[in-house]
Amino acid sequence: MIEIRKQEIIPSQEDAFALQGISSGSKVSSNIILLFDQAVKIFAEHAQPVGIIAEISKNDFGIIYAGEGRNETDTPVAEIFQKADRLALFATTVGQGLHDKINELFVNKDFALGSMLDSVASAGVEKAADVLEAFFGSTVTRGIEDDKNIAVMRYSPGYCGWHVSGQRKLFEYLKPEEIGITLRASYLMEPLKSASGVFIAGGVDIHFFADTYSFCSQCETHSCRERMYRIEHSINASEPGEQPASIDKRRKE
Ligand code: SF4
Repeated sequence: MIEIRKQEIIPSQEDAFALQGISSGSKVSSNIILLFDQAVKIFAEHAQPVGIIAEISKNDFGIIYAGEGRNETDTPVAEIFQKADRLALFATTVGQGLHDKINELFVNKDFALGSMLDSVASAGVEKAADVLEAFFGSTVTRGIEDDKNIAVMRYSPGYCGWHVSGQRKLFEYLKPEEIGITLRASYLMEPLKSASGVFIAGGVDIHFFADTYSFCSQCETHSCRERMYRIEHSINASEPGEQPASIDKRRKE
C-alpha cells in the first residue's frame, strides 16, 4: 500500500475545466472559478488517496493482459510490454467518502457543484496515478545503471484496445481490495473514482507509436499523443544537448 498526500493530487483548474468541456485559454466566469474553489476545498476535506503497486514479470503480465480473450488483435500494449525493462500493475483511488459527497450534492440538486466536484475528483485520480507512476519510475531508474533514457507510460483496461474485462485478472493478481477498491460484475471499480492498469517502463523509443490502430478513430482524447509529447520534452529538459526525433518520426509506421 502506498499513501499519497492530498497536496500532491489537488488538480489544476485547467485539468478540471478540461473535464467540464472548457478548453484551455477560454474566458471563464467568476462563478465557475468559485465553483472550482469550493470543489477543491471539498476534495481536500474528503479525499483519502491511496495506491497499490505490484511488479510483474512479462510472462505473468501476458496472461493478465490476455484476460478473457476480448482484446483487439493489434494494440499498443501487446507490442510495447514485450520490449519493456520492467512492468508493474497498479490501482489507486481517492476514496468512497468523496464519491458519497458527490452523490450527496446531486441528491440535493446542487448539480453545478456536484458536477465540478466530479471533475475535480476524476482529475485527482489521474494525479494520484501520476504519483504512483513517478514512484515506480524512480524505483526503475535506481535499478538500471544507464537510466537517462528510461520512461514509464501507463495503460488501463477499457482503453487502447485492452478490453475492460481485463480488470478481472488484473484484480486477481493485484488484490486492490486491500486498499478498498472492489470490482463490480460490470467491471466498473468501486469507488468509481479509481484507476487501475499497468506501468510499462523501458527505453524511450518503445513508447512511441502511430495512433492508427483500428480503435483510434473512435478515441475522443488521443491522450497518447500528449503523453508522448511529455516524454519527448522531459528528455529535452534533462538533456538540452540532445535533439530527439519528433513524435512523428519515432512512431511506428
Ligand atoms: S489514439 Fe486513443 S485509443 Fe489510440 S492509442 Fe492513442 S489514446 Fe489509445
